[in-house]
Amino acid sequence: MAPHTISTNKIPSADAKVASSTSYEIAIIGAGILGSVLAYSLAESGRSVLLVERDLSEPDRIVGELLQPGGCVALKKLGIDDTLQGIDAVPCEGYKVFWGQQEVAIPYPQEDIGMGWSEGGVGADGRKQEGRSFHHGRFIQNLRKKAASSAGVTLVEATVNDLLRDDLSGGVLGLTATPKSSTTNSDPSPLTYRAHLTIIVDGCMSKFRRQLLPTHVSPLVRSHFVGLVLEDADLPAPHHGHVILGKADPSSPPSSTPNTIGPVLVYQLATHETRMLIDVRGSKAPSTAQLAPYLRDNVTHVLPPSIVPSFHQALDKSTSGDKNYRLRSMPNSFLPPYPQGRDVQGAFLAGDSLNMRHPLTGGGMTVAFNDAVLLTGMLGGNKPVGEIKVDSRGPVDLQSWLDVSERLEEWHWERKAVASCINVLAMALYSLFGADDENLEVLKTGCFKYFELGGECIAGPVSLLSALRPSPFYLFYHFFRVAFYSIWILFTEPVRTAEHPKGRKPQVWEYPALTVKSVQVFWTACVVLLPVLWSEGQM
Ligand SMILES: Cc1cc2nc3c(=O)[nH]c(=O)nc-3n(C[C@H](O)[C@H](O)[C@H](O)COP(=O)(O)OP(=O)(O)OC[C@H]3O[C@@H](n4cnc5c(N)ncnc54)[C@H](O)[C@@H]3O)c2cc1C
Repeated sequence: MAPHTISTNKIPSADAKVASSTSYEIAIIGAGILGSVLAYSLAESGRSVLLVERDLSEPDRIVGELLQPGGCVALKKLGIDDTLQGIDAVPCEGYKVFWGQQEVAIPYPQEDIGMGWSEGGVGADGRKQEGRSFHHGRFIQNLRKKAASSAGVTLVEATVNDLLRDDLSGGVLGLTATPKSSTTNSDPSPLTYRAHLTIIVDGCMSKFRRQLLPTHVSPLVRSHFVGLVLEDADLPAPHHGHVILGKADPSSPPSSTPNTIGPVLVYQLATHETRMLIDVRGSKAPSTAQLAPYLRDNVTHVLPPSIVPSFHQALDKSTSGDKNYRLRSMPNSFLPPYPQGRDVQGAFLAGDSLNMRHPLTGGGMTVAFNDAVLLTGMLGGNKPVGEIKVDSRGPVDLQSWLDVSERLEEWHWERKAVASCINVLAMALYSLFGADDENLEVLKTGCFKYFELGGECIAGPVSLLSALRPSPFYLFYHFFRVAFYSIWILFTEPVRTAEHPKGRKPQVWEYPALTVKSVQVFWTACVVLLPVLWSEGQM
């Protein structure tokens, strides 16, 4: 069976030239995850919106495929949860973490308010929270269709080349863009579009980030995800995200050879297709030559056995020359958010162009949709949208930058409840699960065993990860409980060595060395968490 082939269906574009003759209240650069949703919600609130996207055909990317329950709830608040329908999306009930022979389930929590899924829900009583996983391209096309369906949105297929600046103040007055030839009746030469406010949501490789943020604010890449599609995989935990940790035996000492493979993530994309994302360490993209045999040698032994046949089949097909089966990689970037509105007037960044975190916890879209909820309330017009009310101060005057920048400042702080939790959790969990030193291995063991305790030790972290009950304080609390539990385990759990293959509890005479080790482990925990937390507090 061939993997999902990208459909040739394009979302129709407005005539680019005709569209350039009007002035808009808001111009949005990029009809991706956030741009499409913002265009819809701001237009439904009464704003006139221009949405410019360089390619309106179905994207074929390995990003944005698993939406946390907190992201589904945000879509519901915006009144557009129907965009998850009709795309063969698969319900996701939580995670399962695999580590050698051991595994631990991390189900999403029950909440008082059910999602009320009309298609494919698995929660028997409707209270069980679910996420959704799907083909990114199919979901994006649904979001774009939704945006195009709003009377207030003008959707144009064009590549934005530059921001239109006021000669005197340098403020942004709109943009210039080169339309696709099919969207103008004449030559596709650059056109000028004017708007009171320009929202830049052009994604992780943002072309305009440099123009709005200081030079020291740039993405940090520690690893890449290599993606492949498994066909009819025999999953140990269907309807769950599988997080597979990279060392086969949790109780054996760390290997002395450097391992470039971090955690492996597996989740369903559709009824017959499953995504596998393999974390490969390094700031440079892994070369695709010899990648398939390398992955076969280094990943096979950590996988649950039932997945291995479909993994090998996918690797074999990746070298067949058929581009549908090729191995693809994407950088896993970290970019803390930066306050905006003070330097450049008339425009601001949102989505991945402003803020990124490791995709291990699948949080990017959830952050984006929660931002859409906040921004619709703060910058919207005079009509409520879904469950979002008009701001009690009334719609902001988009031509008064003082007023707009005040709301952007509010947004910077209000988004932290969800965004900071997801950002910090993703970076901290990646450091632990992708452990590449001895102290991190101790924390990884502690974290795994903490989950094994069950109860609050699972419910707390998963309510943060799912963005259902985000609280930075709660995150801090659980992280340091994991750190102390790791140290407790260091003193109490049997350790396997060459002399004691069955494991032996630490002896009293080993305690001084273990005390030194504990200090190092605690220090490592601080080094993992505190800089990321600090970066969230940029003023
Ligand atoms: C490997 C990987 C896996 C991920 N998996 C998940 C996951 O499972 N769950 C999750 O929640 N998040 C995931 N993420 C993160 C998620 O994909 C992003 O957070 C999300 O897509 C950000 O949305 P955005 O709107 O900012 O950018 P995008 O969705 O990338 O949209 C940007 C849009 O701008 C357009 N554009 C760019 N430049 C121009 C231009 N000059 N002119 C016109 N248009 C332009 C692009 O064509 C694109 O349509 C993952 C990220 C990575 C790297």
